[in-house]
Amino acid sequence: MAKKKSAAKSVAPISVVTGGAGFLGSHLTDLLLSKGHQVIAIDNLVTGSTDNIAHLAGNPAFRFIHQDVTEFLFLEGPVDYVWHFASPASPIDYLELPIQTLKVGSLGTHKALGLARNKGARFLLTSTSEIYGDPLEHPQTESYWGNVNIIGPRGCYDESKRFAEAITMAYNRQHGIETRIVRIFNTYGPRMRLNDGRVVPAFIGQALENKPITVFGDGKQTRSFCYVSDLIEGIYRLMMSDYSLPVNIGNPNEMTMLEFAREIIGATRSKSRLVHRPLPQDDPKQRRPDIGLAEKLLGWKPVVPLKDGLETTIKYFRGRS
Ligand code: UDP
Repeated sequence: MAKKKSAAKSVAPISVVTGGAGFLGSHLTDLLLSKGHQVIAIDNLVTGSTDNIAHLAGNPAFRFIHQDVTEFLFLEGPVDYVWHFASPASPIDYLELPIQTLKVGSLGTHKALGLARNKGARFLLTSTSEIYGDPLEHPQTESYWGNVNIIGPRGCYDESKRFAEAITMAYNRQHGIETRIVRIFNTYGPRMRLNDGRVVPAFIGQALENKPITVFGDGKQTRSFCYVSDLIEGIYRLMMSDYSLPVNIGNPNEMTMLEFAREIIGATRSKSRLVHRPLPQDDPKQRRPDIGLAEKLLGWKPVVPLKDGLETTIKYFRGRS
């Protein structure tokens, strides 16, 4: 069977990154190149941008393919690792693109798994804390099955990723391919889109222009924010591990959106005031990863304090606004 063309055979490991022009995919690409991988990034640029990979133009270890990963993926030559990062990931993106979101999580994951199987490559799925829905268990451990409204506005993302996890395990069990599943919690850093609607770019953009900061609902809902370099390091370690069940990667530093708004106002020295806007339907009330498994398995935990991560992120957004 296709299985054992081992990663160790290639001199430079060859990695395929779906969603390679996105926020996380482009940071992963940078890390892989720095570790001596050759990287083939595939992206249909629906939410990704060539700006995120422009600095790699002319790098002989890097290749970009403009393709939708829900279409058949054909690549010549060996592949050692498939990192499946492609998906809209911000609530306003998947509200606008519910069908594409469902397709990339289902058909796209199927195609990416097919590529991994065909090449005998190891496969990593980027899943999400969204599979826990509006969680009734807190903090969330990997053994929690979640509380998802299947037919609500976020269902397209939650269910596409739940399906993606299921098909990844099916390929692992039926075809014996090596698979990894990371459940990513809220992450921030340079290369987020200023207008992607997520709370980090929204608040920073508003603060930099001294516009009102839009706190949804009463602002008592919580999130826990992880800086992008910490997240990517954790994902890299997971791929290189031998563990095939899901692993949470995120920062357990939990805060309310009101606290976060004040943090952003302080960090930008903004004159913005807070305004409240309606809470979107099914907005999870609380979210914090239990990262005990990642600590034990990967010797990983986040090291970038919120203040430092925000400083770098704010500098990035200042340069672009
Ligand atoms: N949020 C907010 N104001 C905004 C954007 C988001 O208060 O302008 C809140 C949102 O309701 C949620 C949290 O911030 O409770 C995080 O939202 P985000 O869209 O970043 O991602 P989520 O964690 O919900 O997937």
